[in-house]
Amino acid sequence: MDLDFDRAHIWHPYSSLIDPPPVYPIARAEGVHLYLEDGRALIDGMSSWWCALHGYNVPELNTALQKQMEKMSHVMFGGLTHQPAIDLCKKLVEITPQPLQRVFLADSGSVSVEVAIKMALQYWHSQGRPEKNKLLALRNGYHGDTFGAMAACDPVTGMHHLFAGQLTQHFFAPAPRPTFNEPCEDADIAELQQLIEENHGQLAAVILEPIVQGAGGMRFYSPEYLQRVRELCDQHELLLIADEIATGFGRSGKLFACEHAGISPDILTLGKALTGGTMTLAATLCTDKVAEGICRGEAGVFMHGPTFMGNPLACAVSNASIDLLLSSPWQQRVASIEQQLQRELAPLRNADAVADVRCLGAIGVVEMREPVDMARVQEALIARGVWLRPFGKLVYAMPPYVISEQDLSQLTNAMVEVLA
Ligand SMILES: *Cc1c(COP(=O)(O)O)cnc(C)c1O
Repeated sequence: MDLDFDRAHIWHPYSSLIDPPPVYPIARAEGVHLYLEDGRALIDGMSSWWCALHGYNVPELNTALQKQMEKMSHVMFGGLTHQPAIDLCKKLVEITPQPLQRVFLADSGSVSVEVAIKMALQYWHSQGRPEKNKLLALRNGYHGDTFGAMAACDPVTGMHHLFAGQLTQHFFAPAPRPTFNEPCEDADIAELQQLIEENHGQLAAVILEPIVQGAGGMRFYSPEYLQRVRELCDQHELLLIADEIATGFGRSGKLFACEHAGISPDILTLGKALTGGTMTLAATLCTDKVAEGICRGEAGVFMHGPTFMGNPLACAVSNASIDLLLSSPWQQRVASIEQQLQRELAPLRNADAVADVRCLGAIGVVEMREPVDMARVQEALIARGVWLRPFGKLVYAMPPYVISEQDLSQLTNAMVEVLA
């Protein structure tokens, strides 16, 4: 591959074109392995950023794409519809919490967050309360890279402080303190409660990642905290937007992370694993109340409609991915991945350089005391046949659910050797 051209001309995520970090040429992928051009196999510990639940080159997904391609790869969604979209939306309505009944198909995670924010604003506009147009978000939150989504990211860890002057100024509550297994005391929710009590007149919604804060810190928090937020939203007339783009489809041990708390949001965003890691698609679901509220308003319609909305290929492969997931023993697989991660990463707790080790579902996080040298750590991991992408102080694994015990051991051994 012409890596010189790549270095000189192609942006990669969050990268420089003056002093680009190394990129590794991948020729193909199969099962849990990425194959470098020189033939070396790497165990993918990232699932390509939460997406590839079933691993790569999955026959069921390939077949779904091929079959759909022979019928139509794409048609516009304005005024037209098709079976793959109908099947997918039926499934999403069925598997997500019951109150979520209406589906908007978006083209990427960030766009589904924009759509969620627009839904919340349009809902309150329709209720004759356009002054309810701010969000309350959590510190350490991450919701995407577009302007509306950036404004809801943690102003510091959200990677977007450079644009602060151009972003809508929202309200931020502290990151949830109680961890996954801890109760939520009154003090833990006090600041968020105060922000809501003082500002509910201008707040449209609370937006958060339920249970697992992803790119903004890889932290797991208490289901009781989420329950308290839901109650406060109900008491003070705020919508709750749950961003399950990373957590959706089983990653945290429940199909959707909201289930840990037994709550339902008013608006839900899904993406990443939706297509089983094959291509881009996202969805924003909402309740009847939100949908009807919007449509009874001044505009009469919801004001959004991307060109590639409801792409039939993406819908068809999502249907195949969800079927494959639900017909697999995914709960058992995720539970054993969690146990194995806990067990095999435990030795790192005693390492001087390590601040914390935490695992939930098929997610294992090692938080270092100092930011890691990504290029050096990656090189050392690759020498051990493993692909991870650390950022800041965090080195974490979220492998495909189909990973074998042996491959997962190779992955955790590499982490322990390199990080200790
Ligand atoms: C990745 C992510 C997004 C953004 O999705 P893109 O597809 O990258 O635009 C939004 N929210 C959360 C929680 C994410 O993990």
